[in-house]
Amino acid sequence: RWAAASLGRRLPLRRLGSDSAAPCSPHFDVVVIGGGHAGTEAAAAAARCGSRTLLLTHRVDTIGQMSCNPSFGGIGKGHLMREVDALDGLCSRVCDQSGIHYKVLNRRKGPAVWGLRAQIDRKLYKQNMQKEILSTPLLTVQEGAVEDLVLADPEPGYPGKSRVRGVVLADGSIIYAESVILTTGTFLRGMIIIGLEMHPAGRLGDQPSIGLAQTLEKLGFMVGRLKTGTPPRLAKESINFDILNKHTPDNPSIPFSFLSDSVWIKPWLSWNSLCRPGWPRTQKSACLCLPSAGIKGVRHHRPARSNIFQLRPEDQLPCYLTHTNPRVDEIVLENLHLNSHVKETTRGPRYCPSIESKVLRFPNRVHQVWLEPEGMDSDLIYPQGLSVTLPAELQEKMITCIRGLERAKMVHAGYGVQYDYLDPRQISPSLETHLVQRLFFAGQINGTTGYEEAAAQGVIAGINASLRVSRKPPFVVSRTEGYIGVLIDDLTTLGTSEPYRMFTSRVEFRLSLRPDNADARLTFRAYEEAGCVSSQRYERALWMKSSLEEGISVLKSIKFSSSKWKKLIPQTPISINRSLPVRVDRTFYTGSALDVLKYEEVDMESLASVVPEPLKKYTACRELARRLKIEATYESALLYQLQEIKEVQQDEALQLPQDIDYLTIRGVSLSQEVREKLHSSRPQTIGAASRIPGVTPAAIINLLRFVRSTQ
Ligand code: FAD
Repeated sequence: RWAAASLGRRLPLRRLGSDSAAPCSPHFDVVVIGGGHAGTEAAAAAARCGSRTLLLTHRVDTIGQMSCNPSFGGIGKGHLMREVDALDGLCSRVCDQSGIHYKVLNRRKGPAVWGLRAQIDRKLYKQNMQKEILSTPLLTVQEGAVEDLVLADPEPGYPGKSRVRGVVLADGSIIYAESVILTTGTFLRGMIIIGLEMHPAGRLGDQPSIGLAQTLEKLGFMVGRLKTGTPPRLAKESINFDILNKHTPDNPSIPFSFLSDSVWIKPWLSWNSLCRPGWPRTQKSACLCLPSAGIKGVRHHRPARSNIFQLRPEDQLPCYLTHTNPRVDEIVLENLHLNSHVKETTRGPRYCPSIESKVLRFPNRVHQVWLEPEGMDSDLIYPQGLSVTLPAELQEKMITCIRGLERAKMVHAGYGVQYDYLDPRQISPSLETHLVQRLFFAGQINGTTGYEEAAAQGVIAGINASLRVSRKPPFVVSRTEGYIGVLIDDLTTLGTSEPYRMFTSRVEFRLSLRPDNADARLTFRAYEEAGCVSSQRYERALWMKSSLEEGISVLKSIKFSSSKWKKLIPQTPISINRSLPVRVDRTFYTGSALDVLKYEEVDMESLASVVPEPLKKYTACRELARRLKIEATYESALLYQLQEIKEVQQDEALQLPQDIDYLTIRGVSLSQEVREKLHSSRPQTIGAASRIPGVTPAAIINLLRFVRSTQ
């Protein structure tokens, strides 16, 4: 079944050259395998770069499916979403159309480490993502299971034993491609587990991918096995929310995308919500706005743009918090013999651990269980923190021991999944594999966990697969430029033995890699080097950049004596977040408005109340005012960090030759162990080589001398 971008149109088949075995097979610039979070971003990015792209996936109706939690973002992950958005990726915009509870985490810390997060309407996210994908120019979508790869001799001048030329589907048909991106998530030899029962599946209700896993192993890729799991889903009406802690969302909500002024949701959903019987009282007010007047009892307000209606802060759904107790621990420990996924010796992933792992790792502790709505009109609740693989009846027994869940009905049981992943040291920072030219891996297949990590890799793989077709240099984000750079550098140099998740603590330059400035860091480069950014986004980023520069210089130029600022400056000492090296300049009496803005209690609005002209102009745009405040907060601290960044960038600029054979190379003194490590990771720069565990500083100096002598 084909679903071509332009109204289901089949693309004309292109005849291949005489070297082709199947001249009538379709031919694309880029073929993406998998329609999950990595695959959708990869396919859309390749198409935005101008490549004729095919997205091949098992089922079109599962494109954009959120396999586990009904939420996006969080600490570290919110940064990734902002960066994906800065590269004109999809997930942030789609989340701004599908969220039902927006909350910034880590608020007590500085804005550099705020974690933008939202509960997302699962159904709506999938619909909005499918709409985006099916309307992307140059992108065709086809259902099918890829079983094998078509290979050819390698291109000279690049590392790799062979070159990918296309894919083979389960029905034996071939689709040719210049580049191929694999984003098969948990599907490679996927097995799902409940209690002692195991059966092959990529995730619940989906077939696993066996043939492709065998192909990759035959090609010589190092394959490992990872585990993850998901909690049971509970019936909303069976939960006693009245006795639980209610958590309300932010007002106003901060959108994920630089292109969104506010968050919004489609009217049909609100209409469904309104019409649904049996909703808890708290949600009766979730009436949102409706197209035109005339519906009795419904409040109306003006739509933000035609056909799109604002989700008002008070329309968002709450989350609730409950906790485990000793009885839960007892049930888990008494039944470990009935659990083949989590045992005392193999406890599963450290991040997103199952309740069994938590009980084993931290005995006698109480654990949080967040009750999260799965959608505006969904009857399901996702109990975050309760991922479990006990037999279904024991899951139910465990759940009903928990406060508020005494009468809870389990709609689906929780389950575990075990799957193959590929050691990510086998890919370069452009996500192209070392072994097979023009073959890219992105997402959970590289050992990561989470939608945001998958999306971030997807967009980079899509851009690079497309650049490779046009023989342009790769688009690589460094550790000094973005969380995406840290994620990919960690994976490609250090590898991973358990599902890798993004955290702010993994990032060295947190003060400069902030969620608010991802556009300044990435949008211009992506526009100029990769062409994957729309001119609308580019113009907006340019406007913001010049407004910020102008705003900062205006703020610096406004100088008064401290008596003028008196009503703004707090009498008590300023509270500075000690966990970040933020040095707020206390010498405000020098009198610049920028210095006054550094005080936590002062914002652009209060500053403009004292000096309306020329500051009023900068408060008209809420986002600009917010960003000026953040720039002021970090201004002094960033001076130190920029120097450190420059030093790291010098190391990163020292490129290692791509064709160097570390195992046999002469004229450089390296131990056999270091040679093997460099051979398997193939670092691109001296900086990356220095981060490989076991590569000693002495080896780096020798390598540096050798590279310089060959230049
Ligand atoms: P996926 O979203 O899995 O998408 C893979 C896509 O590839 C699918 O569309 C599939 O149909 C397609 N595909 C696979 N093989 C083929 C083939 N041969 N031919 C054609 N198409 C193919 N993340 C967390 O952060 N926290 C959690 O607690 C968590 N728990 C999870 C629990 C479960 C049970 C599962 C399955 C996942 C969980 N995740 C969790 C992971 C999260 O869902 C993934 O990180 C994310 O979806 C990965 O995105 P992806 O694009 O790499 O793969």
